[in-house]
Amino acid sequence: MKSIDLVIPSFNEEGNIKSLFERIVNLNIKNYKLRLLFVDDGSKDDTLFEIKKLVKKKNGLKVSYISFSRNFGHQVALKAGIDHSKADAVISMDADLQHPPELIPKLIKKWEDGAEIVYTIRKDDENVSWFKRNTASLFYHLLNYLSGLQISHGAADFRLLDKKVIQALKLYNEKNLFIRGLVTAIGFKKESIEYTPELRVWGVSKYSIKKMILFALDGITSFSVKPLHFATYFGLLLSFFSGGYGIYAIIIFFTSDSVVTGWASVLTSVLFIGGVQLIILGILGEYLGKLFIQSKGRPNYLISEKDI
Ligand code: UDP
Ligand code: MG
Repeated sequence: MKSIDLVIPSFNEEGNIKSLFERIVNLNIKNYKLRLLFVDDGSKDDTLFEIKKLVKKKNGLKVSYISFSRNFGHQVALKAGIDHSKADAVISMDADLQHPPELIPKLIKKWEDGAEIVYTIRKDDENVSWFKRNTASLFYHLLNYLSGLQISHGAADFRLLDKKVIQALKLYNEKNLFIRGLVTAIGFKKESIEYTPELRVWGVSKYSIKKMILFALDGITSFSVKPLHFATYFGLLLSFFSGGYGIYAIIIFFTSDSVVTGWASVLTSVLFIGGVQLIILGILGEYLGKLFIQSKGRPNYLISEKDI
């Protein structure tokens, strides 16, 4: 019998673990050895305790877990699940039931029909806030433009990956993971399914604005160096204009007899160029920082406990 691991990153989800388990049990999947692999991402509440309660329960569904020594972030938790899976397929999903478990049989069906990656596309509705919908759409436009990838706008981290894809992803040991981008970039036979996200069953979103911005920056800087080109183009454009301005200043110095000593224009241009330089330094810094972190070769995550 083929096996499927459900990888579920969980960060402070004590109120969702049991309901998620029950919803999956209710699916009554018989043709596969199904296992729930929770990745406890340094939760501060009783998430791990709730998971351990399920491990003890013996009712056909095997439950395993990996528990991080601290919070490493959703993408890293997903990667840990992938790294530890030996199953024939992995399905990754959120712990908060926003990814409806009832879709799992459909994902499996497409896999049986030959797809190696079955990804889901979020059909946005009122369950997702206006802010999230619009910032996400803007982000994907920008990212696709910069990286040349074609990441679907509503792509979620709810997907099935065949063993072959898992083997491929295990080779990627980069920091600042952006798994959606990787999955799009590595090829393989893909199929997609649309779904309507449900409301979070319990608790609040763990993606703060800060985490979302960092996630977006990771997405862009790990798939594209175009921002560095922008810096160069912008610099060139500015030097062109300032050269022109210099010539203009010399001409009016010789041709006009009432040259106003224009401190305002000097100040504006100095401030403007200063600002642009800071932006360019910032862009350089983003990449340099990534290089620095990567060059240290530190592990992506640390496990404090596991039962695999
Ligand atoms: N999550 C995680 N580590 C984090 C943040 C989130 O493992 O640092 C998990 C979280 O428990 C959930 C999934 O990632 O299972 C998606 O997070 P969330 O539902 O908070 O994000 P949203 O659906 O609001 O985008
Ligand atoms: Mg959620």
